[in-house]
Amino acid sequence: MLKVGLTGGIGSGKSTVARRLAELGACVVDSDVLAREVAAPGGDGLARVRRRFGDGVITADGSLDRPALASAVFGDDAARADLEGILHPLIAERTAQVVAAAPPDAIVVHDVPLLVEKHMGPGYHLVVVVDAPAAVRLERLVGERGMGEADARARMEHQANDDTRRAAADVLLPNGGSREELVAAVHELWHERLRPFEENVRLGRPFRRPDTPVLVDYDPGWPHAARRIVDRLGAALGDRAPEIEHVGSTAVPGMPGKDVIDVQIGVSRLADADDPDFMSTMADLGFPRIDDYRMDHPTEDLPDPSLWVKRFHASCDPGRVVHVHVRELGSAGWQYALLFRDFLRADPEAAAEYVDVKDRLRRESSSSADYAEAKAPWFGEIWPRIQAWAQRSGWHD
Ligand code: ADP
Repeated sequence: MLKVGLTGGIGSGKSTVARRLAELGACVVDSDVLAREVAAPGGDGLARVRRRFGDGVITADGSLDRPALASAVFGDDAARADLEGILHPLIAERTAQVVAAAPPDAIVVHDVPLLVEKHMGPGYHLVVVVDAPAAVRLERLVGERGMGEADARARMEHQANDDTRRAAADVLLPNGGSREELVAAVHELWHERLRPFEENVRLGRPFRRPDTPVLVDYDPGWPHAARRIVDRLGAALGDRAPEIEHVGSTAVPGMPGKDVIDVQIGVSRLADADDPDFMSTMADLGFPRIDDYRMDHPTEDLPDPSLWVKRFHASCDPGRVVHVHVRELGSAGWQYALLFRDFLRADPEAAAEYVDVKDRLRRESSSSADYAEAKAPWFGEIWPRIQAWAQRSGWHD
């Protein structure tokens, strides 16, 4: 099962996207519909709301008087917290029931207006954000939905700003243009990304890009992408992953590199990574293990291979290559990944040199494995400089 979170500012076109995804075969769970269901007449939710807020929030026919309830909690944080304390667990329970009832090969799309504001992103394999300029959204809300302009503006102001929402997006669907363009983008998203991603997760098959190392310019989106992955892994693994870090070239601001997000999970003991629960959590999350890679390259001063063992997982997402290295906290491999990253961040000249070396080797190598092998001598040469820097700067992990 693939779990996708769908959100967007009011008027962005989120509901239009949800409808289209449902037509394509997604199992769409609408959080607004579930919120209404749990407060429907006859239910425990409504009874508890009535007990807390009184008969004034119930209409003559016994249903919830939403405007009355809205004014009862307006500007009163304690009252709002009470309301959320009653309804949120019920909504979460209903959501879990609906998701559990979906077939194993389902692509479940959870349509949540306040997904970003409520920090729900880590709960999904992928977050899709529908994005349109504020002026266009306002025009649609007033023109097409007939909302009053002041009301539309007030609602927009209550939501996360566009930058925050974009930083939370694994997929950004721009909807500043025509409906046809939006529908085409949803179609492509479904066929090129969601369907193969779901199938890869179900089959425990990581996505592999054609095997030619390509360097691309630094992408300012990399740290955001890494943050989303780190948060997702952290939410799913909890105490089993005491530390999770973005490492590798994409973690060095300004430096070109392969478009691969490297993440390092620090486990207390490497055996924790071999635990069946750990492995199945990773696989369900879309990061199955690849047993071919179990070692880092030892440095000259620490040649003992046992200091450099690791486990390796890769992402099933055809839209984003992610390598997850699981290393024991404090091990040579763990420290090296952090030290090398921090050194390159601190020394732009060394970073430029590294890019030159990679660029030359890339042209000379035919596969990623060749290329990784060819990089080893440079790592040997730079090692004394890294150590000197670590001493000077008092570096520690
Ligand atoms: P949301 O669910 O994000 O609030 P909707 O999907 O309901 O937004 O879209 C808001 C309004 O704008 C709707 O009336 C919808 O039909 C319309 N709309 C959505 N996308 C476009 C578009 N590309 N061009 C014109 N109108 C659009």
